[in-house]
Amino acid sequence: MRGVRKENLPVKLCSVCQRPFTWRKKWEKVWEEVRYCSEACRRKKVPSNSAATPTARPVDSSSRLKDNPQRT
Ligand SMILES: [Zn+2]
Repeated sequence: MRGVRKENLPVKLCSVCQRPFTWRKKWEKVWEEVRYCSEACRRKKVPSNSAATPTARPVDSSSRLKDNPQRT
């Protein structure tokens, strides 16, 4: 009984080393979030892009007040 083909497993490209890696049992619940082929690549991930994301935006609240002026 050898009906399961390993060739049918999904494959992704690693964001770090750009190599294809194959679905693994340990990823069955997080496969959509997996971006790296290994723990080593996950730690290597390029820090330049993610570091640019601001955490707080105080500007949004003030501009929103302009759109909705209070009536007196
Ligand atoms: Zn990799």
